[in-house]
Amino acid sequence: MGSKVLFERAKKVIPGGVNSPVRAFKAVGGEPIFVSRGEGAYVYTVDGKKLLDLVCSWGPLILGHAHPKVVERVKEAVEKGSSFGTPTELEVLLAEKIVEIYPSIDKVRLVNSGTEATMSAIRLARGYTGRKYIVKFDGCYHGHSDGLLVQAGSGGLTFGVPNSPGVPEEYASLTFSLPYNSIDKVKELFGERGEEIAAVIVEPVAGNMGVVLPEDGFLEGLREITKRYGALLIFDEVITGFRLGLSGAQGFYGIEPDITCLGKILGGGFPIGAFGGKGEIMDMLSPDGPVYQAGTLSGNPVAVTAGLATIEILEKENVYKELEETTDRLVMEMERLTKDYPVTVNRIASMFTVFFCEGPVKDLDGARKSDLEKFSLFHKGMLDEGVYLPPSQFEACFVSFPFGKDEIERFLEAFYKVFPRLF
Ligand code: PLP
Repeated sequence: MGSKVLFERAKKVIPGGVNSPVRAFKAVGGEPIFVSRGEGAYVYTVDGKKLLDLVCSWGPLILGHAHPKVVERVKEAVEKGSSFGTPTELEVLLAEKIVEIYPSIDKVRLVNSGTEATMSAIRLARGYTGRKYIVKFDGCYHGHSDGLLVQAGSGGLTFGVPNSPGVPEEYASLTFSLPYNSIDKVKELFGERGEEIAAVIVEPVAGNMGVVLPEDGFLEGLREITKRYGALLIFDEVITGFRLGLSGAQGFYGIEPDITCLGKILGGGFPIGAFGGKGEIMDMLSPDGPVYQAGTLSGNPVAVTAGLATIEILEKENVYKELEETTDRLVMEMERLTKDYPVTVNRIASMFTVFFCEGPVKDLDGARKSDLEKFSLFHKGMLDEGVYLPPSQFEACFVSFPFGKDEIERFLEAFYKVFPRLF
């Protein structure tokens, strides 16, 4: 059965036919692709197409699809039972691994998604500081919990509903949203309300308005200001954790937040999230402390095993160096080809976004200048050539480890064909 037929069936029983809005392809005017399987750098659709995959399940699949070692370990784990609701050694191993890799984390709690991680981190920050206001940045997406769905990126941007109906005004009013990279605005706000602010939450490299890098001094400034006013700094590393290197953006930029949120790669393609930080803060959590947080499937042995297997491969093999080289090739060639056009490629490590506007793109206003019609044509053209990019301008393309010489050629050939048709 093909994608079209499945989508019609899906729309009858699933809102919009999808279980997460950006999958619907509305931003690029198409229809979702139904996938039957994935292997390495490719997904295979129910329509019989083989697509080079730069969505990578929106970030988790740094090792590509169905990595044999991860699959083997997951099979072994699930044969022993899929969930117990009581502790296992596996959870201890994963927590120890996270604490070893992230020096800012003394203790960590596992949850089931990035949304849960950020939502719980915010509650913990409020509980710890006894304050109620939160600062976030326009275009940063931290999952879909009420207080964070304010000027959010990703699907929130694509669908133009950053303040979703169903989020009470009173909730949204506890969240200040400021322009990304604007440290002066942060200083100004803290000057007026600093004593009331529980935390600043930030994507240390933004991935949800397309890739946008922190300018020099931005993250350092956030660290300094939050410390000065007794607020917590939360790095949402759901995308960047294990992506910019094992220790994520904090390792890359050498800045220690108070709380870190992880997800995506941490679960090796299975549902997982985590939030961790200094012992003194984490000890505020139930059952030792008063801040409640819980989860029936938290620390799920299958997800934890996939995460452990993934991290072991990231540690042992030359993954980051190869990803860096592959992405260099892709981005340098795209930049060479587009240098006389209003095109900006933002990139860090193995994530990038092509914007159809003059640069620099350093915040949401900049990202919004991109010509979305051109992006849609670009997306459709690449898909027709067998390259699957995220179906929205405001997302990151991810390169995976199995992306080799053939895949670089395949990608660039598609780009050579599609790009000249756009201008
Ligand atoms: N934080 C960031 C930076 C994200 O990119 C996402 C999802 O894309 C989330 C949080 C929410 O994670 P999840 O979709 O697993 O709930």
